[in-house]
Amino acid sequence: MNKVEVIDTDVLVVGGGGAGARAALDANEAGAKVTLAVKGDFGIAGFRGSGSSGGGRTSMFTYFVPGGKLAPEKEADAVFERIIQTGLGMANRRLSRILVDEAMQARAKLEKWGVIMNMMPFAGGRIAKMLVPMPGLANVIRGAGDIRVRERMTVTDLLVQDGACIGAIGVDEDRGELCLFRAAATILATGGGGQLFMHCFHPSCDTGDGYAMAYEAGAELVNMEFMHLNIGIVYPMVSLLPNGNWGLYPRVRNGTGEEFIHKYLPKGVTVEDCLKPKPQRTVFTTRDVSKYFEIAFVKETREGRANEHNALYLEPINPNTVPQWRFQTLSNRGVDWSKEVEINVACQTFNGGLRIDENAQTSVPGLYAVGETAAGPWGADRLGGLMHAFSHVFGVRAGKHA
Ligand SMILES: Cc1cc2nc3c(=O)[nH]c(=O)nc-3n(C[C@H](O)[C@H](O)[C@H](O)COP(=O)(O)OP(=O)(O)OC[C@H]3O[C@@H](n4cnc5c(N)ncnc54)[C@H](O)[C@@H]3O)c2cc1C
Repeated sequence: MNKVEVIDTDVLVVGGGGAGARAALDANEAGAKVTLAVKGDFGIAGFRGSGSSGGGRTSMFTYFVPGGKLAPEKEADAVFERIIQTGLGMANRRLSRILVDEAMQARAKLEKWGVIMNMMPFAGGRIAKMLVPMPGLANVIRGAGDIRVRERMTVTDLLVQDGACIGAIGVDEDRGELCLFRAAATILATGGGGQLFMHCFHPSCDTGDGYAMAYEAGAELVNMEFMHLNIGIVYPMVSLLPNGNWGLYPRVRNGTGEEFIHKYLPKGVTVEDCLKPKPQRTVFTTRDVSKYFEIAFVKETREGRANEHNALYLEPINPNTVPQWRFQTLSNRGVDWSKEVEINVACQTFNGGLRIDENAQTSVPGLYAVGETAAGPWGADRLGGLMHAFSHVFGVRAGKHA
């Protein structure tokens, strides 16, 4: 490792998920010379790709408003109130207001780029809008031509001079050589840190690099203790489970085939009591008795009674309870639904991260953070489905301001 490549750029974006791609596009549109450095391959996202930005509900906005569609201005207010309530007094009102006020505007471009699709046929024929950022946004970036993309480039450190960020150092994964990025502004978009846990739904590149680099550079991190956890398939591949499945009160066994949930329940609480609220829950919550279900999973695993993959067994799933597309996707990846599936509690999203202001600027001058790397408006909990909206609203702001 003796050669150091030097790249001078106005804006360095670190990370090529939905948030990083959006920030790069908007910085480019604002006239900046932009370089995008991505660990792994750019444009492949999802569980097995480079970043979590595989796809998800856009929830901009009708999907989350109880009672159905409202007039757009009322939708924004309703979603705002729900973000604040969900954050349990710790949500950032200013950032939340920006999010709801600018989400539809940020979405308009996504429609134009063709990355919002009608997908997910639910029971009863309901269709939800899905945002599928990758590979669509990667193609838009490649089509723009003037954004310099450095794939397979792992950024390891931020450069700080007189308290301000002036760029970063990366390692070219193919050549093993160092690369020095000198940048007037650096936007961190390295996703979450799910890979720090035994099980997660994040792809292998999401190892919390942005949090660590920013911390070492002196940036402030907030709400790092808050994250979304969920029960899903953890072997031989990872996937969320359809929520409706819990309404069938399926049995769960440990690595030696014994049922165990009941051992961890307080007096008077049954396994059925725990499962009852779960079809309405998208993620783990401490706010109802369903919490004892996940707590039992973690305790049984810690006791060493999970199987050799640190997984527990869920009895075969009734295919009629699973949306056809999900059934097909998982079958294609080798999940045999006619047998028990291997599940456990896994990390889904980090809700904390770098503290940012309304332009996504961190506490270190010259350093910005977007997407899951930023703490955003969320408080103790996050309204599910809004991470993509947040990534784009603040991706736009970071891109323009940087
Ligand atoms: C199973 C699951 C379901 C979800 N469902 C939804 C949903 O329905 N709606 C919703 O809004 N959100 C959902 N989310 C959350 C959302 O998908 C993610 O929070 C979001 O996609 C994160 O985007 P991002 O651009 O911040 O990071 P990512 O998409 O994770 O991208 C991170 C990028 O950073 C790169 N990187 C990492 N480290 C480095 C480094 N050191 N140097 C250079 N590059 C680096 C990676 O290669 C990658 O390109 C879900 C998440 C999961 C896991």
